[in-house]
Amino acid sequence: MQPAAALPAGPAFPALSAPASVEPRLAAVLGPLSEAAPALEALYRELHETPELSMQEEATAGRLAERLRSLGFEVTEKVGGTGVVGVLGNGEGPVVMLRTDLDALPVEEKTGLPYASRAFGKDEHGQPVPAMHACGHDLHMTVWTGAATLLARAKASWRGTLVMVGQPAEEKGAGAETMLKDGLFTRFPRPSFAVALHVTPDLAAGRVGVTPGPAFASVDSVDVTIHGKGGHGAMPHRTIDPILIGARFVVTLQALVSREKSPFEPAVVSVGSFQAGSKHNVIPPEARLKLTVRAYREEVRLALLEGIRRVAAAEAMAAGAPVAPTVTVVESTPGVVNDGPLTGRLREAFRAALGEANVADFPPASVSEDFSFYGREGVPASMFWLGVAPPAALAGARAAGKSLPPLHSAEFAPDYAPALRAGVTALAAAALELLPAR
Ligand code: ZN
Ligand code: ZN
Repeated sequence: MQPAAALPAGPAFPALSAPASVEPRLAAVLGPLSEAAPALEALYRELHETPELSMQEEATAGRLAERLRSLGFEVTEKVGGTGVVGVLGNGEGPVVMLRTDLDALPVEEKTGLPYASRAFGKDEHGQPVPAMHACGHDLHMTVWTGAATLLARAKASWRGTLVMVGQPAEEKGAGAETMLKDGLFTRFPRPSFAVALHVTPDLAAGRVGVTPGPAFASVDSVDVTIHGKGGHGAMPHRTIDPILIGARFVVTLQALVSREKSPFEPAVVSVGSFQAGSKHNVIPPEARLKLTVRAYREEVRLALLEGIRRVAAAEAMAAGAPVAPTVTVVESTPGVVNDGPLTGRLREAFRAALGEANVADFPPASVSEDFSFYGREGVPASMFWLGVAPPAALAGARAAGKSLPPLHSAEFAPDYAPALRAGVTALAAAALELLPAR
């Protein structure tokens, strides 16, 4: 996922050192981190070299399942496709779910790094396509593995149940839903809390970002077909021109965001495709449009979708079209709304673990994340950002008014070693905040 262009406030050069004193329970859990770090760094490079595309994450899932088993988790594979669930019961207490995504993107890596991916996956037609962890899910998996390792080794420091979820197909907005449909919250302990992270090149490695409330936009992909009446371009009066209706529709749509919605409610309606006809002098019988709709609040989302239907029908009626346009929502991911009290607790845990200067307030992103499906099931859920930018490069880019290669870029290259340490520290601290002492 890719964050919005707005850059969060905060020092570009973080204090990379941890705070002077860390809570003793956390210190006990984090004790072996330095020793574990080289193996985790190696795991990161291996995962980076062997990316697998959405719902093809078989080797990746198998690798994580094996790690969890070796740590004493009860592991179930092939949940909702290639999903992995590891459960570690450790006495009475809350159930804490930590989620990582597993999938890579069909991007040809151009970082030139020694561990760059040369792997291929298969596209929807079964044809080979280059694959790359251009969204940092390899780092999510490594941080998740690190936290699972430390928490499993320090079972005397907490009580409750830890549920590690390796979710497929985040990039298709599909895996959370397929895992839930396959009984994630019924076949396994239902979480009291769900926590996840996402990397960002807009924060220096060593820092984390927190977004209370709406954090990722909802996204709806909408197909619109306008039905007119085809005919000769020289005799337009004998036709009902769907291209003209479509053009008016595109213009009137702009008012949904600019006139019908509060200026304090961010939203986007973009037309990404408008196709009709094939020849200069033929008015076609129909026009097809593809729209993306983004919002942060469900009421706004529903109002925009209703508005699209209304405007399409009204423009067609104004032109005397024989039938109303067909409007279909073909894909839909709800927005991530970070639970307020949970996010507040995580923020305090991060400050205590990483130091105040390393915890930034981060703006909502205009992209989507299917982590939203867990919160929609009524589980308090929160997702935080993990900085991965080399601090000096980030400072240099900002000074020049630029930004580093974003998520999904072929040149996306996390500063993984410090990010990994901060990520494991933050995720373990989050879990300990929620899992009481024995
Ligand atoms: Zn992504
Ligand atoms: Zn992602």
